[in-house]
Amino acid sequence: MVDTDSFGRQYRSAGVWQHVGTQPRTTASPKDSDVKITDIQTILTAPAGIRLVVVKVMTDQPGLHGLGCATYTQRARTVASAVDEYLKPFLIGKNPLEIEDIWQSSFVSSYWRNGPVLNNAMSGVDMACWDILGKTADLPLYRLFGGKVRTAVDTYRHATGENFKEVEDRVREFMEAGYRHVRAQVAVPGYTTYGTNESAGEDPLPENQRVELFEPGPYARLVPCLFDHLRSQLGDEVELIHDVHERVPPILAIQMAKDLEPYRLFFLEDPFSPEDIGYFQHLRAQSSTPIAMGELFNNPNEWVSLVSERLIDFIRVHISQVGGLTMARKIAALCEFFRVRTAWHGPGDVSPVGHAAHVHLDLSSPNFGIQEAREFTQAEQDVFPGCPELKEGYYWANDKPGLGIDLDEDLAASFPIEDDPPFDMFWGNVRQRDGNIVKP
Ligand SMILES: [Mg+2]
Repeated sequence: MVDTDSFGRQYRSAGVWQHVGTQPRTTASPKDSDVKITDIQTILTAPAGIRLVVVKVMTDQPGLHGLGCATYTQRARTVASAVDEYLKPFLIGKNPLEIEDIWQSSFVSSYWRNGPVLNNAMSGVDMACWDILGKTADLPLYRLFGGKVRTAVDTYRHATGENFKEVEDRVREFMEAGYRHVRAQVAVPGYTTYGTNESAGEDPLPENQRVELFEPGPYARLVPCLFDHLRSQLGDEVELIHDVHERVPPILAIQMAKDLEPYRLFFLEDPFSPEDIGYFQHLRAQSSTPIAMGELFNNPNEWVSLVSERLIDFIRVHISQVGGLTMARKIAALCEFFRVRTAWHGPGDVSPVGHAAHVHLDLSSPNFGIQEAREFTQAEQDVFPGCPELKEGYYWANDKPGLGIDLDEDLAASFPIEDDPPFDMFWGNVRQRDGNIVKP
C-alpha cells in the first residue's frame, strides 16, 4: 500500500519514506569535508548559581573542538534535549567550517522553527563552529570578523538601591571604578520592582505560589524623580540608562519617555513588550529619548522594520536567543546602514562563552554602541578560563584563537544546576493588586 503525505512524499506501510519524482539522495556533500564533527555535548553548570547551558562540538582533528553559549536559563534542560537528541544526530559527520550551511540546514531541520529553545540550541553549535574556525585559522575571532575597529569594549553596569541616595552612591562607585555608563533602577515602596534587590522576606508558600506585587502607576511616577535626583547630584557627564522591562501599559511607557527627556538618558530599554512593537512609531513621534529594544526577540520579523524604519536606536538581542554569532553578525550589518547601534544583552544568564562572543563582535563592529557587562565570579573564571577581562569599565579580549575561552568540565560538574525548583519562579508570578499577571 502506498500513501502520500502533505509534502508530496510517498509513504509505504513498511515505514520507508520515498521521494516522488526525485533522484535518490546521496550522502556525500559536494563541499570539502576536511574536518568532521564527531560528537556534540551539552554541559549544564551553575558556577554563579545561574543555570548555564554550554555546547561543545568535537571534531576528528586531534584537540580541535569549539564552545558555544546556548543559555536559556528558564528552560535549560529543554535546550539540552534539543541539542543532544535532535541537532547532534543531524550534524555528526558534517564539516563544522561550513558554518552558514550548518545554520541554514539546522534552522529548517525541525520544519517548525524559531523560538527560544531551538534558537538557543542552534546558537550553541553555531558559536562552537566559529570557535573551531578561529582555532583552525589560528586567529582570534575578531580578526576573522574584519579586525578591531576599537581597542576595547565600553560597558555599563547595574546600580540599584532602596532609595535615591542608595542608587546615587552605587552609581558613584561605578564612576570611581572608571565606568562612564550606568543603568539605574530604584525600589518602589510597597512593590517588588524589576532590577532592584528588594526581598519580600520569609514566605511560607511553595515557590510556585509566591506572588510578587507590582503596580505600573507608582513605578512610572517614581522613575523620573530618580533621574532628576541623579542628574542634580552627579552632573551631566555620566551616561545613564533605565530598563522598563516591558512592565507598564504602552501609553504609560510613552509618558515615561517624555518625562525622562530632561535627564538625557543614554537609552531607555524595553519600553514595550515584543507583542506591542506597533507602539514604537507612536513613541518616536512624541519623544527624543533614545530607545533600546530586543532582548526577547526570536525572529527577524520582530526587528527588521524597527531598524529599517529607524524606530529604535540600540538593538540589544540576546545573541543565543536569535541563533548565535551567524545571525548576530547579520543583525549588526543591517543596523549599520540605519545608524542603529548594538547593545547586546549581557546579564548573568549569558554564559562567559556568550560574553566572549559579544567582545569579538563589539571589537569589530563599527556601529557598536555599548555592552552590558558583568564581573565574573572567581568560580566562573575558574570554570571558564579565558573570561573577558573587565578593567576600568572596558572589556578586553585575549588574543587566543577562536573565542579565546575554555571550559574546565570537571570543575563545571562540581557546580550542578538546581532542579528543585527547575527555574526561578518569580517569572510568571508577578501580579497587580487585583491578581492580573504583569509581564516580568
Ligand atoms: Mg533588559
